[in-house]
Amino acid sequence: MPPKQRKIAIMGYRSVGKSSLSIQFVEGQFVDSYDPTIENTFTKSTRVNSQDYEVKLVDTAGQDEYSIFPTQYSMDIHGYVLVYSITSAKSFEVVQIIYDKLLDITGKVHVPIVLVGNKTDLYVDRMVTTEQGKRLADSWHAAFLETSAKQNESVADIFHTLLMEIEKADGNVQEP
Ligand code: GDP
Ligand code: MG
Repeated sequence: MPPKQRKIAIMGYRSVGKSSLSIQFVEGQFVDSYDPTIENTFTKSTRVNSQDYEVKLVDTAGQDEYSIFPTQYSMDIHGYVLVYSITSAKSFEVVQIIYDKLLDITGKVHVPIVLVGNKTDLYVDRMVTTEQGKRLADSWHAAFLETSAKQNESVADIFHTLLMEIEKADGNVQEP
């Protein structure tokens, strides 16, 4: 089977680790300081359930509660990674605002989404519980993961989970 082309956007408040997760997934390394204003599209081939995918990953510059949802991220995107940091209650608030705007602008009731609580290696500074994250994702009917870009913990899972969510939305049910 030829690879399926999928375009994914990664969004969230500033400094939650969007670029770190993107670079960890695409290049397999943790970069300690990455220009927060850079918007980049990465390409990565990956395989899930014997299907090859060519993923275009759009690493956005970050949003806050006042940001207007960028229209370029509302079109021809198959699914979204919405990221907060488990060390930042503010980033958890902002991710909910981004979600509301996302549904508004796409006009869809269901969009394939993975909610990600990043920076689990900083558990001593945890401000958002796993339960809170889970509950929010459940209310969206979205998938949920906690990750560490730094320790490469569950990073590939984000993208594999999202690709499966996209298949589900397309009506291609994936039984385990
Ligand atoms: P972005 O603004 O959302 O793209 O965030 P960055 O990827 O630029 O990361 C912001 C800061 O958080 C940088 O200093 C990163 O090194 C750091 N960071 C990102 N992910 C993690 C993580 O999983 N653990 C820790 N300890 N730091 C992280
Ligand atoms: Mg960034």
